[in-house]
Amino acid sequence: MANESEPFSEKLRVPEALTFDDVLLRPKESHIEPDEADTATRVSKNVSLNVPVLTAAMDTVTESDMAIAMARHGGLGVLHRNMTVDEMVAEIERIKRADELIIRDVVTASPDQTVREVDRMMERRGVSGAPVVSDDGEVLGIISGTDIRPYLEVGESDAVSEAMTDEVVTAGEEVTPREALELMYEHKIERVPIVDGGNRLVGLVTMAGILARREYDNAARDENGHLRAGVAVGPFEMDRAQAADEAGADVVFIDCAHAHNRNVVDSARDIKREVGADVVVGNIGTREAAEDVIDFADGVKVGIGPGSICTTRVVTGAGMPQISAIAQVADVADAHDVPVIADGGIRYSGDAIKAVAAGADAVMLGSYFAGTDEAPGRVITMNGKKYKQYRGMGSVGAMKSGGGERYLKDTEDDEDFVPEGVEAATPYKGTLESELHQLVGGMQSGMGYVGAESIPEFKERAEFVRVSSAGQQESHPHDVVITDEAPNYSPDGN
Ligand code: 5GP
Repeated sequence: MANESEPFSEKLRVPEALTFDDVLLRPKESHIEPDEADTATRVSKNVSLNVPVLTAAMDTVTESDMAIAMARHGGLGVLHRNMTVDEMVAEIERIKRADELIIRDVVTASPDQTVREVDRMMERRGVSGAPVVSDDGEVLGIISGTDIRPYLEVGESDAVSEAMTDEVVTAGEEVTPREALELMYEHKIERVPIVDGGNRLVGLVTMAGILARREYDNAARDENGHLRAGVAVGPFEMDRAQAADEAGADVVFIDCAHAHNRNVVDSARDIKREVGADVVVGNIGTREAAEDVIDFADGVKVGIGPGSICTTRVVTGAGMPQISAIAQVADVADAHDVPVIADGGIRYSGDAIKAVAAGADAVMLGSYFAGTDEAPGRVITMNGKKYKQYRGMGSVGAMKSGGGERYLKDTEDDEDFVPEGVEAATPYKGTLESELHQLVGGMQSGMGYVGAESIPEFKERAEFVRVSSAGQQESHPHDVVITDEAPNYSPDGN
């Protein structure tokens, strides 16, 4: 007679794979307060962040608005690839220019324009002052709202050359923020035109710009002080990868639903050879996949089917529950000092810090941020509640817009799509800043329960306990009716 604990067949002698709800962090003695926990980390070999969070490369999550906001607050946005290469280049340039000390695209006035014309132009372009330049770009003066105001009353047809201040304080391109501020205080001015050796205008530094940069002291910046940009490219899109690299992207993400495919690995290796930016390879979910890319990848991204809008596991029958996927990839990656990004399935801050405990250096989220102001798309109202659209990149809608290659599908004919994602709506949530604050604050509290001051220390100290289904129920609010919404909890995910 067969032993009761023996499987009926060798085929059924299978390992168990775990996900977020199956485990909890074991509380440990702690000497730190949660807000002292340092969340600095790496997303790839050469790119560090103060906040270990990335937004997903999805057309309802990350375009330049999201990427700018994420980098300003210390994380990284990864641009999706349902756009042309030219559009992608323009988006990267927009991110890189966002917090630039020297504004290059300066609104200028000419000395022969009338005061009224310049007033209207400044209003239209949303600026409160403009350098006055000659036809060959030489700086002749500067005009501001204060100069214009008296003329609007008595001489709005007068020429700008009458109203402008012609003793202009300028600086060269090498000016530092501190030097520019000192000039502004000394001369009681708010903007300094930047000129070349021939006094020709090359840019403008403004007081408002300098103060805005100071506000973001956690920001993710490159060595030139520009905000960091991540970009998704298809595994076979060498041209897109090279264009992203040339435009200044810091990290190129090979964006594939199943990167452990021989052709994908070979092509990703070629891309790595050709670009200067770091190359993160994904998605993978097994030890063997990690072993096959670890010699060339600057980072690996983990997630086969955990995403909120993803149907890969039910459509294909394949996948790997996310805690087990992260842990096995991290075993390989740690030995090679390659950072690991956990991508998908994170509903709460607790899931995010469990992903780190399993071995991730950073986490990537889609649904958590899709409802924020910075995500593409407009707010829609259904039954009196506000939502934003959120769709899988393997959904029919997203594949029609060009995303099918992620699923290694030929997208020539719409009828032939076999989708691996759904199109959905997610509750509208307001600003990215407040959502990110809740996420990172929750992660820091998790670090506090384990007594770890930094991400590397946390990864070392963290231990899991296994949770029964009764334990899972106990974890959520129970036996009560929730009367007020919490900013970081909703029963069906955040
Ligand atoms: P979420 O944070 O919403 O749970 O998951 C976001 C992640 O799901 C993305 O970063 C991406 O890796 C994955 N993803 C996005 N769209 C699809 C899709 O249509 N199908 C699958 N299988 N995964 C998707």
